[in-house]
Amino acid sequence: MKKHICPHCGERTFTPLMKARCGGMSSVGKHCPKCGGRCVNGKVSLAVHSVLLLAALVMIVYMRLTFVEPSEWLWKGLLPLAAALALGFLFDMFFGKLIEAIRLE
Ligand SMILES: [Zn+2]
Repeated sequence: MKKHICPHCGERTFTPLMKARCGGMSSVGKHCPKCGGRCVNGKVSLAVHSVLLLAALVMIVYMRLTFVEPSEWLWKGLLPLAAALALGFLFDMFFGKLIEAIRLE
C-alpha cells in the first residue's frame, strides 16, 4: 500500500493508518518513524471533517424534528455522527497531505 510523504524529511514513512491517526491541524500529531518530526493532516482534511460533521449535525436535527419518540432519535442520532467520524478517518487514510504540526507538545 502506498505510503504518505513526511513533510519534514520527504520520505514515504506514514502508512494510511498512521496518517489517519495523526489528527487534524489542531492536534499534537504523530512522530515520523524516520526523522521524528511531528505531522498532522492539513487543510483539506480539516475542511472535509467540518463538512462531514456539519452534515451529521443537520441529519441529527432533522431526525430530532421528524422522530416523535425521543428514545428513538437519541441512538439513531449517533449513527450519522459515527458515520461522519468513520468517513473522516477513511479520508485521512487515503487522501490529503500531511503537514508539519504547529502545536507545541
Ligand atoms: Zn520524516
